[in-house]
Parts: sequence; structure tokens; C-alpha cells
Amino acid sequence: MTTLTIEAADRIKKLPPYLFAEIDRLKREARDQGVDIIDLGVGDPDIPTPNFIIDSLYEGAKDPKNHRYALDAGMPSFREEIASWFQRRFGVSVDTQNEILPLIGSKEGIAHLPLAVVNPGDVVLVPDPGYPVYHSASYFAGAETSTIPLVEEKGFLPDFSAIDPAALKQAKLMFLNYPNNPTAACATLEFYEEVVQFAKEHDIIVAQDAAYTEMAYDGYKPVSFLQAKGAKEVGIEFHSLSKTYNMTGWRVGFAVGNPEILKLLAKVKANCDSGIFQAIQVAATTALKEGDQAVQDNIDIYQERRDILVDGLESIGWKVNKPKATFYIWTKVPSGYTSAELTTKLLKDAGIVVTPGNGFGPNGEGFIRFSVTVAKEKLQEAVERIKNLK
Ligand SMILES: *Cc1c(COP(=O)(O)O)cnc(C)c1O
Repeated sequence: MTTLTIEAADRIKKLPPYLFAEIDRLKREARDQGVDIIDLGVGDPDIPTPNFIIDSLYEGAKDPKNHRYALDAGMPSFREEIASWFQRRFGVSVDTQNEILPLIGSKEGIAHLPLAVVNPGDVVLVPDPGYPVYHSASYFAGAETSTIPLVEEKGFLPDFSAIDPAALKQAKLMFLNYPNNPTAACATLEFYEEVVQFAKEHDIIVAQDAAYTEMAYDGYKPVSFLQAKGAKEVGIEFHSLSKTYNMTGWRVGFAVGNPEILKLLAKVKANCDSGIFQAIQVAATTALKEGDQAVQDNIDIYQERRDILVDGLESIGWKVNKPKATFYIWTKVPSGYTSAELTTKLLKDAGIVVTPGNGFGPNGEGFIRFSVTVAKEKLQEAVERIKNLK
């Protein structure tokens, strides 16, 4: 008998290990050694999905017509609700026929977009630090990536003048993400208007990842890229129900914006998946329609946690910016440490999991990211543990 040699494809071999997979491994190691872990590492809500959404899933699941393959384009009722939510939330009208594309989570759309719009050898501009999928998805499509540095002096907004001019010439697609993971920075309408100009000038498609627009504090309401004049001519925006309604496991999101781009993305998807389980679309429709209070309840919880962690860290001498949005606290590591060294020390000596900034790209070096995805008592304890670190 001959045995098969199973070897990873080159494109897999060249990928860096997925950030959270590596952190998971370290976490398990510590847990196996009996450490009582406080996990502030992963951006995944600890609060359950609201009951009215679960009830709606159940109703949807009981209807046999929802058991079959879903339409790739999504249920008309879901698309209509997306359009009215978008109008209500951002004051922007999107056409239900061709300016909305439901997704199996926004990560799915982000991962497939480069296959739809870039060729091997093209350049994709990705923010550094940034969500790792922008790079890997571009790379799977055979594109090169070039980084847009996000630095503190510029409020973690892209410094377009810092993009490599040769790369800019080849660039076809640019990912943006505001409110931002990991830095928690927020974009203004004026900034998005500059982005539209920049995209037109250099002929670059814009893909703005809006996973956190609904998670903002102190009454602040983040803007949508589509509010910028001309945005629909140059790009799309990804939205997600995951963080907003504590639905990360459900896998539902959508893209809105330029119909040409969405049509191409839909073509890739038609060859990869068969739509979102319709009962989930029914529940997602209910979430958008009736979920405003649930969203506000979540915000209140995260805001209190944010204040406990930020004020707590400040009280023990750290310098921390209070984020206006997202559930992340992005903070400089005290001098004398690298991101990885501090992450390891926090895990080994305090049982606290954080994410090292350099895991989001070289410009993240010198920072760590806390997620406030544990109960407030645990955050108080985390501050105590950090205070007692030697
Ligand atoms: C969580 C997250 C996503 C993924 O959202 P899904 O809709 O669950 O796929 C996308 N982008 C960023 C920046 C995120 O943090």
C-alpha cells in the first residue's frame, strides 16, 4: 500500500498563524497549569443573544419553506429591513434590489471580496494595525498587500501620504475599518469625504468594515461611509449583526453600497455558498426591526465596563485613552516591554489574556488590546492583579 503525502498548499504554508489560534494555545497551556484566567483577548461578546431574537429563530425554523437552500440574494423581507434600518440609522437610502448583499457574517464577505475584484499582481491596501483577514483574503486572491500605517499622531486614521507610491499605482482595493479594531479610533464624515476623493483620484475600490458602528458610548453615533457624497460610486460597506446583537455564532451580516461591486461579490459567493439559513435571516430581520433597545442595553453594559477598566488602569498609573466606540481598549505598553513580552507577563503572572498589538501588524508594536468582554467584577479583579504585578 502506498501512503499519500499530504502537504499544505504553498498559499497556506506562507500564512502567518491566525492570531487568535496562537493565543488560544497559550491560554489552554495556562489553564492546564491551573491558572484562573481572565480572558480579555478575543472580541466576542460574553452576553447572550436577546430572547426575542432567539424566539424569532425558532419561529423561522418551524416553517418548512425555510429548510431549503436559501436564495443567494437573501430573503426579500430581510433586504427590505436592511434598507429601512440603514435609512433610519444613517439617513442613507439603499436600493433593496441591487445595493444590498446579505452575508454569512461580514468576515465571509471580506474574505471573498478580493477574489471578486483583484487580479494576481494587483495591490490591496490594508491598514496596519488591522483585522488579519484583509491581508489573508487579498493574498488568497494572488494580490500583494501594501500597508496603510495607522499611527497615534494621526488618530489612527490612514496617512495616505505614507503609502508606498509604487504600490499606490498598482492598488485596486483598499480596506478601511471604523470604528476601528484594534485601535478603537473613529472616522468622521469629513474623513470619509477625503477617502472618496482619494479613491476617485487613484481608481481604488473602497471596502469599509463597519462591524462596530452600533457599539459607541456617551451618546456618540458613528457615521457610515455611505453618508459621504459619492461613496456609492467607489465602494461598499460591511455590516455585521455579530457584535451589535451578541450574535457572533449565528453568522449573519451584509454589505451595502456600489451595485457593480456587490454583483461581482455575489458571483463569487454563488460558487462558494448557498446563502444564509433562512431561519437566521428571519431572526436577523427581527433584530434589525425591534433591536434598538437591546443595542442600547448592551452599550450601557460595555460603557460601564470600559469605565471600570480605563479608570482602574489610570488609578494605578497607566495612561489609557477612553474609547468612544468598540469594546476594545488599545493602550501603549509601559516602557521596557514589547507587546509580546507584556502579553506573556500578563498571562503568566496575572492570568490575564490580552492581545499583543503586533499581532495586528508591525505598527501595532508597543500596544496591547484589552476587550471588555467579561463581567465588571472580573475587570475590577484584573485591575487588582495588574496593580500587584512585580
Ligand atoms: C468581529 C469583526 C468582524 C467579523 O464579523 P462577522 O460578521 O462575525 O464575520 C469583521 N471585522 C472586524 C474588524 C471585526 O472585529
